[in-house]
Amino acid sequence: MKYDVAVIGGGPAGMISAGRAGELGASVILIEKNKNLGRKLLITGKGRCNITNKENNPREFINKFGKNGKFLFSAFSVFGIQETINFFEKLNLRIKIERGRRVFPVSDKSQDVLETLIGYLKKSNVKIKSNSEVKEVIKKDNKIEKIILANNEEIIASKFIISTGGKSYPGTGSTGDGYKWAKKLGHTVTNLSPSLVPIIVKEKIVKELEGLSLKNVEISVYKENKKIDSRFGEAIFTADGMSGPIIIDMSKKIRQELPKDIKIKIDFKPALDFSKLDQRIQEDFNRDSKKMFKNSLNDLLPQKLIPIIVKLSGINSNKKSSFITKEERKKLLYLLKEFTLEVKSLAIHEKAIITSGGIELSEIDQKTMKSKLIDNLYFAGEILDIDGPTGGYNLQVCWTTGYVAGENAYLTFH
Ligand SMILES: Cc1cc2nc3c(=O)[nH]c(=O)nc-3n(C[C@H](O)[C@H](O)[C@H](O)COP(=O)(O)OP(=O)(O)OC[C@H]3O[C@@H](n4cnc5c(N)ncnc54)[C@H](O)[C@@H]3O)c2cc1C
Repeated sequence: MKYDVAVIGGGPAGMISAGRAGELGASVILIEKNKNLGRKLLITGKGRCNITNKENNPREFINKFGKNGKFLFSAFSVFGIQETINFFEKLNLRIKIERGRRVFPVSDKSQDVLETLIGYLKKSNVKIKSNSEVKEVIKKDNKIEKIILANNEEIIASKFIISTGGKSYPGTGSTGDGYKWAKKLGHTVTNLSPSLVPIIVKEKIVKELEGLSLKNVEISVYKENKKIDSRFGEAIFTADGMSGPIIIDMSKKIRQELPKDIKIKIDFKPALDFSKLDQRIQEDFNRDSKKMFKNSLNDLLPQKLIPIIVKLSGINSNKKSSFITKEERKKLLYLLKEFTLEVKSLAIHEKAIITSGGIELSEIDQKTMKSKLIDNLYFAGEILDIDGPTGGYNLQVCWTTGYVAGENAYLTFH
């Protein structure tokens, strides 16, 4: 059988593009190498799926993607943030908006987003071919003629959409296959690097803090002792460094500066300046004058952090807190307001939220997502050379480019 449209990759971009082409009336096949669609989608937003970001000004939204963002303007005018929200609501997914304008399903379950998309595919009569890895893409006379699966089965279609994602979290199926085909077809693939990643630090002591998550902290980045970035929010210690929203968002800036001398300073108590925190500590220390130093920080810090702070302060842990000197308190204050770690490197692709780099945008028609080099080929999603910060930005790229690719694969066919 010859299909009107064959979509390779059943992630968010592939699902919406296949569904849109099918909804319009095309016969569509969606090919996915995993047993199930949307494996990466399921782990987004810590299993809650941050679908998009309800930034009211599209220009502001697009600015978040840096210089490549302008590629999205035209597609956004067709299927932008509000259209995405309407799309999901029309399919009966209830949506809520949280702090930072981040949009989630009311149920807090990415599974519900996935099921909504699968329902859309079924309604659009898309043939879902899972457990099917595409091995080769065959070109003839400047067109894709067919694709060949791992079991040598051939799939023939008039139009092809490649939406195989990036290279991060390869266990979910995103192993970068589409980049190889694109290169072979004559496309340029810009430099690929892991983006939005945890950091690895030099201090071995973090191992003892592994798993400790911090809320309402302020973390600043210093390049050669000059502050270059600072954010408030959540972070978590890992076995060899730190992760969590603040760190991941700052990782892009850190990448630009490494291997220079980069340090991060954690302010565990940003609501209190040095003198207010000093007052508070003195109150705690004097409340029970017999209490030993090691037992006097319980009201101030999470349990896991206390032994580390005690150790690094150099203050005798058994000393009565009321005997602690001003000089010793000063040391303690610096640990609480400027807990310093030296950045060694960034984590690898496997742990990145997104791949930076991809198909060179000047080779893609921004109105249709069609390749300017191959007559019947489209690209959608993370495979394109666009990446944004956390907060729903990257999935919005998938919804927008996927919808537009699916629609145009159908339209140019008819
Ligand atoms: C931990 C984590 C959390 C995230 N959270 C968020 C979030 O909350 N909000 C947000 O906006 N973004 C988030 N992202 C980013 C978001 O997941 C990606 O931007 C998005 O999944 C990209 O979608 P895609 O369809 O382009 O590719 P993918 O989701 O990578 O899907 C590509 C699909 O193609 C299939 N495939 C690959 N090669 C082949 C082949 N040869 N044959 C057949 N099939 C193939 C893969 O198996 C895969 O299913 C997160 C990412 C991670 C890793």
